[in-house]
Amino acid sequence: MTRELEATCRRCGEKHRLAHCSTINAATDPDLKQQVLDGSLFVWECPHCGERNLDAEPLLYIDPEARLLAVLSAEEIGLAVPQDGPYAGFAVRRAATPGALIELVKAFDAGLDDAALDLCKQVTRMELGKDALELRFFRLNGPDNEIIFTYPQDGEMKMIAVGFNVYEDCRRILSKH
Ligand SMILES: [Zn+2]
Repeated sequence: MTRELEATCRRCGEKHRLAHCSTINAATDPDLKQQVLDGSLFVWECPHCGERNLDAEPLLYIDPEARLLAVLSAEEIGLAVPQDGPYAGFAVRRAATPGALIELVKAFDAGLDDAALDLCKQVTRMELGKDALELRFFRLNGPDNEIIFTYPQDGEMKMIAVGFNVYEDCRRILSKH
């Protein structure tokens, strides 16, 4: 499902009408899911100057297989899904940025619990002594399912591997509450 919106190029200031994808169902639109994962869905190129702009307008992402219903919205919104409808049992999440949405989709595809993953990030930040480091789940790696996080440093994307046991510990801690 798409809607037209008027976007302004951040470099030249020209206005451009663009088809914004407002609802994605990963089961029926696997191509769009791929565009979410590689980030291309959120980028539009200005026809006047070629600048690549970000489209972070709200969108609804539904993945029946991963049982995820996610809303991309920079603003806090109330999310209530009737528990007797077609989305009963789905995890309902808000992502504030396209980067956060991409991460959510990757985490659910990998069958990971996002709350445990968040705690795992906190632990990793503490161990690195970098409280403000912006870690993003990237993928699982190797036979031991190492957790690969990415983070920006000196204009580059770096990666760090964390043992799956750290994630499991985090999940155990959270399940006790
Ligand atoms: Zn432009």
